[in-house]
Amino acid sequence: MSNKLRDLDKMIDVSQSSEAMPVLFVGHGSPMNAIEDNDVVRMWGRVGSEIPKPRAILCVSAHWETRGTRVTAMEKPRTIHDFGGFPRELFDVQYPAPGSMQLAQETHDVIQLAEVYFDHSEWGLDHGCWSVLNKMFPAADVPVVQISLDVGMTPQQHFALARELAALRRRGVLIFGSGNMVHNLRRIALPAGSTEGFNTRYGLDWALEANMVFKELIDAGRFDHLADYKSLGRAVQLAVPTPEHYLPMLYTLALKDDDDGISYFNDYALAGSLTMTSMMIDKQK
Ligand code: ZN
Repeated sequence: MSNKLRDLDKMIDVSQSSEAMPVLFVGHGSPMNAIEDNDVVRMWGRVGSEIPKPRAILCVSAHWETRGTRVTAMEKPRTIHDFGGFPRELFDVQYPAPGSMQLAQETHDVIQLAEVYFDHSEWGLDHGCWSVLNKMFPAADVPVVQISLDVGMTPQQHFALARELAALRRRGVLIFGSGNMVHNLRRIALPAGSTEGFNTRYGLDWALEANMVFKELIDAGRFDHLADYKSLGRAVQLAVPTPEHYLPMLYTLALKDDDDGISYFNDYALAGSLTMTSMMIDKQK
């Protein structure tokens, strides 16, 4: 047995008795949240300060789609500025959290439904991950691993794979899905006279309807219906034109135990066609 594996064994022994960590889904919205001070990010900061400090974070971001399932396996993941047309200040942001070879290995080991490939150099932390963590854990002292979304999987397969991550919750790992439940950038709309731009609290009728449909199904525990989102009607079709911002929510829901409760935060629409609606799944107190 290599030293690394022996260390891993030791760590798992120690941490398996710990209480389950909460699970988060965060609507990330604009990358500018990484450097702005607004209602959205103040809530991220609050969530970060109120939950137990994780041993490590496993992030499922809308912005890492691959063929096959990959995890970042690197000591120092780079901060990826995967966007264009934003101010220099945003490109200057670095989120220097360490990676975790251990968590990459553990993630690989708990997943049976797919082959998990180690990404040693290509990826890093994309803005779905760091724009939120920069406000939630500004010290950047918690190791972060990203897991990719396999474009070849159905939503039901994603859900099943996500369930296999459950063991990590009990090892001090914060599993964090980052996307947006309602996300249609082609339909961005601002009411006349609005001066706040992207941060305008405003939702088109279909966006608000879809947000309500999602929350009703979440509260009713109908995650099977949520995975079958293409059959949920016109408002949901407009809300989820492509799956990548929606799937991280399914990863989060898949980790809900029967004795967990769900609480929402940042539950509102911005710029017409996005919702920031986020949730924490946690043991009921
Ligand atoms: Zn995004």
